[in-house]
Amino acid sequence: MNIMLLGAPGSGKGTQAEKLVARLGYIQFSTGDLMRKQITDQTSLGLECAKYMNEGKLVPDKIVNAIVKDYLKSNSNKLIFDGFPRTLEQALELEKMLAEVDSKMDRVIYIDVAKEIILKRISGRIICPICKVSYHIETRKPLVEGICDNDGAALVRRPDDSPEKVAVRLKTYEADTKPLIDFYSNKPGFIHIEEAAELDGEIVYNMIEEALI
Ligand code: ADP
Repeated sequence: MNIMLLGAPGSGKGTQAEKLVARLGYIQFSTGDLMRKQITDQTSLGLECAKYMNEGKLVPDKIVNAIVKDYLKSNSNKLIFDGFPRTLEQALELEKMLAEVDSKMDRVIYIDVAKEIILKRISGRIICPICKVSYHIETRKPLVEGICDNDGAALVRRPDDSPEKVAVRLKTYEADTKPLIDFYSNKPGFIHIEEAAELDGEIVYNMIEEALI
């Protein structure tokens, strides 16, 4: 079973993915995390990705598709696609890439969150650079201020979480990623979680878990 989490930046895809990993043994495949690691390691791929990511822009399809293709060589089942695909071109390519490794997308879960809430969430977001868990300075505080509960690392703000960059990311989401909802909504296995921000994270998780049966 492979799952895709669709939703705007800050809609809670990463948080739900964490739960699916911890409780059901799924593997989180976040193209954003993977590319941030390349940036930290200062690889040439990382340097190329950073040009786009730090501006809040999408990394070109060709680069991201190649990263996914490479990843699917070693993992093609029990994956949670978090942040990929983000364009129609990527979605079409993903269908081909999955077929090549005898796999498919079984569930597409759209976590629908209003824009105003997204802005509040991202403006207070701090993340652990080691385990990638995200916190919020008001609504999801770590036990010790500025320190990750899991591994004691100092929490950081993502460079693209500044208000200007978030505005660019949300525009990009509306223009490039939202059309994917139409694309997937007619396919079997599509689940729409409406007004997800009004629901407790655990309730959203339970809805996802039920959809996996
Ligand atoms: P968020 O969902 O909060 O935007 P991500 O970690 O998924 O966080 O993405 C951060 C950035 O990484 C994006 O703004 C974009 O620059 C780049 N990125 C991640 N996934 C993709 C993708 N599938 N296609 C193009 N760019 C991507």
